[in-house]
Amino acid sequence: MHHFAYRNGVLHAEDVPLDALAREVGTPFYVYSASTLERHYKVFDAAFSGHDHMICYAVKANSNQAVLKLLGDLGAGADIVSGGELKRALVAGIPGERIVFSGVGKRDEEMRAALAAGIRCFNVESVPELRRLSEVAAGMGRIAPVSLRVNPDVDAGTHEKINTGRKADKFGIPFGEAGEVYALAASLPGVEARGVDMHIGSQITELAPFERAFARMARLIEALRAAGHGIHHADLGGGLGAPYHGDNDIPPHPDEYAAMVERTLGHLGLSYIIEPGRVIAGNAGALIGRVIFVKETDGKTFVIADLGMNDLIRPTLYEAFHHVRPVREPAAGAEMIEADVVGPVCETGDYMARGRMIPKPERGDLLAVMTAGAYGAVQAGTYNTRPLVPEVLVKEDKFAVVRPRMEAEQIIALDRLAPWQE
Ligand SMILES: *Cc1c(COP(=O)(O)O)cnc(C)c1O
Repeated sequence: MHHFAYRNGVLHAEDVPLDALAREVGTPFYVYSASTLERHYKVFDAAFSGHDHMICYAVKANSNQAVLKLLGDLGAGADIVSGGELKRALVAGIPGERIVFSGVGKRDEEMRAALAAGIRCFNVESVPELRRLSEVAAGMGRIAPVSLRVNPDVDAGTHEKINTGRKADKFGIPFGEAGEVYALAASLPGVEARGVDMHIGSQITELAPFERAFARMARLIEALRAAGHGIHHADLGGGLGAPYHGDNDIPPHPDEYAAMVERTLGHLGLSYIIEPGRVIAGNAGALIGRVIFVKETDGKTFVIADLGMNDLIRPTLYEAFHHVRPVREPAAGAEMIEADVVGPVCETGDYMARGRMIPKPERGDLLAVMTAGAYGAVQAGTYNTRPLVPEVLVKEDKFAVVRPRMEAEQIIALDRLAPWQE
């Protein structure tokens, strides 16, 4: 479910026609639907309403201040993976007690900042991190609340680059060593184990891998409690998929996910922390661009748009599928062509879609790359000195530029000549 639809022959974000928006802000740009973000958050929250829980939105999926403010105002916490994201969450008004800190490489100053902010929990991913956090916290006279991120050795069945819960992945503490590491945590100053954490991957479209992981988690928590550890919460990570393919291929509903969690962990009387990212933001956004040229070569058509892999890297990084829709609704019976939709970046990997059947576009037509609200703008870069594109938040018939377009001069101004060149 989302709020992008054709009305009067034009694709709209809520009540805002995207052709008019493109005239206003230029292309390319990201557009997010506030109502979709709100709806997804509420559906997820409602799914867990029967149980003590906190939703810590995974900031890395879409960290625009306006998005964080919207979700924070609804009650969301934040799952952060860097000191920069900590600052973003705090500036957006999400209080420390609703923040959890994940990631394999936390630096001392990031630990200190998170301790100073009084975050809810550190999700600790290794023994060296546990020891270092103990030293840093003890040095500040603080107790760091921790969960150990345990790697359940479960294959999430998702793309290689977003599969995180297998033995060979860099994330978490091996399942078989968890007992020892909790014992170590109990012996160290400055840390107190409160929970167990798992995050097995992203864009997971079946419940079975989650269920295998959470069943292992339940057994681990029982064993930890039997060994005298006070385990109060289960951090379930994120990972539930977004519907990239539209209505044909919909991942499990949050209600089914929550029911499965209850089935596997419900008897333990835990509170839950859940870290959804993509499922909240994914189909709440689109990337809008304009066709520059339509190029026909021997047997192939390239639709060359102003959308580059620097704006949206998902297609080339994860072989991700995104629907590419014309902003002007194609007439019934419009000519369809098979084309590669590519950008201007000087890389063969610079594409939005390959071998895709689309209504034949013309130079100047607007295209919408759908389901680009998560891991889109946040992964954008300035390769080829292409400025970061604007982000626009739409709410009913209102829109606001929540990140203005960067200018090439701003990129260039970051450089300095060496003194001997002046
Ligand atoms: C990326 C990430 C998430 C969010 O994953 P989604 O697939 O976007 O839900 C949650 N927790 C951790 C630790 C992550 O790294």
